[in-house]
Amino acid sequence: MSNETFRALMARKTEAGQSIAIETITEADLPEADVTVDVEYSSFNYKDGLALKGLSRILRALPMVPGIDFAGTVRSSASPDFQPGDKVVLTGWGVGENWSGGFAQRARVKGEWLVKLPEGLSSRQAMAIGTAGLTAMLCVDALERYGIAAGGNVLVTGAAGGVGSVAVRLLSRLGYKVSALTGRRSEEDFLKSIGATDIVDRDTYAAAGKPLQGERWHGAVDTVGGPILANVLASTVYGGAVAACGLAASTDLPTTVFPFILRNVALLGVDSVNCPTPRRAHAWARLAELLEPGDLDLVTQEVGLDDLPKLADDIIAGRVRGRTVVRT
Ligand code: NDP
Repeated sequence: MSNETFRALMARKTEAGQSIAIETITEADLPEADVTVDVEYSSFNYKDGLALKGLSRILRALPMVPGIDFAGTVRSSASPDFQPGDKVVLTGWGVGENWSGGFAQRARVKGEWLVKLPEGLSSRQAMAIGTAGLTAMLCVDALERYGIAAGGNVLVTGAAGGVGSVAVRLLSRLGYKVSALTGRRSEEDFLKSIGATDIVDRDTYAAAGKPLQGERWHGAVDTVGGPILANVLASTVYGGAVAACGLAASTDLPTTVFPFILRNVALLGVDSVNCPTPRRAHAWARLAELLEPGDLDLVTQEVGLDDLPKLADDIIAGRVRGRTVVRT
């Protein structure tokens, strides 16, 4: 094990809860595992915001490095699947929750959690996609597997956020007619630039509505939950489907059974954390194929480790546009 020092954002237990600060640490401060990675980029997701703010008990192994995803180069490996120099990406598996994660210049993780970067995708591009983009791809995969055909009207909620913006881009690239539901009318031009053809004001669906409403959506990707998801289900066409992955508005789902039993609507749950490796690898390959570098530039801003505490406030308040890569 190397004694070299490197920079990390460390979360530590305090009497009041937890503290977050940049520290200089060594590999001895990381959990033991078979692969050590030089982290080049991490990214900032909604769950990282919750973690840094001490909300929803995300960080469960204090002291630890938060950060639920990262991309970089294998530094040393006792796993037969990885060699020094391999370019890898990690999302999920509880990293950044109960295992030290990506907000550091180095990480030690189990080889079985890593995916080799698809050819042509840099570590910065992989983190411009990150957990949010992978989740968007899994949602799109779920709608396609269910049979929602290209050309159909598809709604994306929380559209200006990380999952939402990548979902808009992917669905648009695949030939769907994409409507973007947002609470930020100021992001209308941004949403149109990434492929939305129509903007739906969040207020349209924010309050409890009728159990069945006019049939508008062949499919939807929902990142927010709550009454918005209930209204989306009530407005989905006969035989349509909604992929639900998020809770940015609420963990509640105040719906009735009517969309399911009278309109054959399907609610498809999407999880990226424990998604089996073959499905992840397939999703990463599709992301590399579908998204061009310019697509990622459109939705990405770059920050450093020092910017993260402020960013946590912004993402919880719904003020962050698209994806944020974190330069370690
Ligand atoms: P972001 O904060 O980047 O995006 C969330 C978006 O939701 C915001 O940009 C905003 O979009 C909208 N929003 C925020 N607050 C509210 C509110 N009170 N009511 C309605 N809409 C709101 O987060 P991410 O994209 O990283 O994550 C989105 C959700 O997906 C989160 O809940 C996250 O936990 C979940 N997630 C789940 C995963 C899984 O494996 N199932 C993996 C990754 C994320 P706008 O301004 O356009 O309205």
